[in-house]
Amino acid sequence: MDYLQLSQKYQTPLYVYDFDYIASRYNALKSAFNARKSLICYAVKANSNLSLLRHMATLGAGFDCVSIGEIKRALLAGAKPYQVIFSGVGKSDAEIKEALQNEILMINVEGESELDRVEMIAKMLVKKARISIRVNPDVDAKTHPYISTGLNKNKFGVDINTAKKMYLKAKNSNHLEPIGIHFHIGSQITEISSIIEAANIVSVLMRELKALEIDIKFFDVGGGIGIVYKDENEVNLYEYAQGILAALGGQDVTIVCEPGRYIVGNCGTLITSVLYEKFNKDKRFVVVDAAMNDLLRPSLYEAHHEIISLKDGEKSNCDIVGPICESGDFLAKDIKLPRLQNSDILVVKSAGAYGFSMSSNYNTRGRAAEVAIQNGTDRLIRRRESFEDIIALEKDYL
Ligand SMILES: *Cc1c(COP(=O)(O)O)cnc(C)c1O
Repeated sequence: MDYLQLSQKYQTPLYVYDFDYIASRYNALKSAFNARKSLICYAVKANSNLSLLRHMATLGAGFDCVSIGEIKRALLAGAKPYQVIFSGVGKSDAEIKEALQNEILMINVEGESELDRVEMIAKMLVKKARISIRVNPDVDAKTHPYISTGLNKNKFGVDINTAKKMYLKAKNSNHLEPIGIHFHIGSQITEISSIIEAANIVSVLMRELKALEIDIKFFDVGGGIGIVYKDENEVNLYEYAQGILAALGGQDVTIVCEPGRYIVGNCGTLITSVLYEKFNKDKRFVVVDAAMNDLLRPSLYEAHHEIISLKDGEKSNCDIVGPICESGDFLAKDIKLPRLQNSDILVVKSAGAYGFSMSSNYNTRGRAAEVAIQNGTDRLIRRRESFEDIIALEKDYL
């Protein structure tokens, strides 16, 4: 990929996504489940660009959404309603209503009071809401605490006994149809044994539910498959899929999987230009035009992103920092790069997931442009935000 040419054509900071690589990630995961019915629901929050969603829809993916906004994005991009699921710990009445009106596949219910709301809203609409219940299997995903979700101390899902009670209630309701069972224990999981452990726990529950004539058709194993940012284990998709199939022990269900990071993480890069180098005593800083408002992960989780220079030269240690007025505004710390000067280009790798989608206008900085590369050609899929875009919702109130 010619990063220099892209940076000149579209300016920086710039997100670039390799759509062909995304297709190969999707296809690899899909074929790992080949022996069984499966639905890969791409987790929209990882990267919700409309053109990227359309690309996923074209590949045949479904969508896992965590807000009505994401559902509307997916539908706008060409998603089939019966391949859309709605997850998330705090759905509003208006969101539930619109999701039901759109006839999506199912709502992943996260608690008892939410089940009551869904039932009430379905009744009001004279509908039967297809639901699954998010079970919290109390399994340690062994990932960063901010992205771990499958322990009782996390806010997500319900414990096994509560789940059972909820399924019985749903079975006896005229307005609820329990068709799925769901778990999602965290993100960036590189030891898949924890996902398999959760699958085994939830599979036992599913068998008990079937004995109670609650006909679960979708076994939703969530997302969370980790990727290589630095020196992590590469997750073996075959072992992952085989582990889940083994956990099912022959139960005839469609496996739903909700990968976000796995599909897009390694397929995106953030291109940034060097503004200056500066030294505070011996400490070397490279100030670039991308910042924490463009890529929050280093600041938020001390996440590692490999950064490469397009220029060679003798290397020395430096921090890569952005222009934002926060000490936490860095993209990397203590990495080795050659001496750099204004207009040199740096490439931040593996920034396709939770990069642009977590970006903001902090410091009144316009969001970066986004470009897709497909079949060897590049195209703009989101233009750079202008000052006018940023103030659009305020200026009429002056
Ligand atoms: C965030 C999330 C995902 C995607 O997680 P990744 O780690 O990006 O695969 C899937 N399902 C649910 C419910 C989520 O909240």
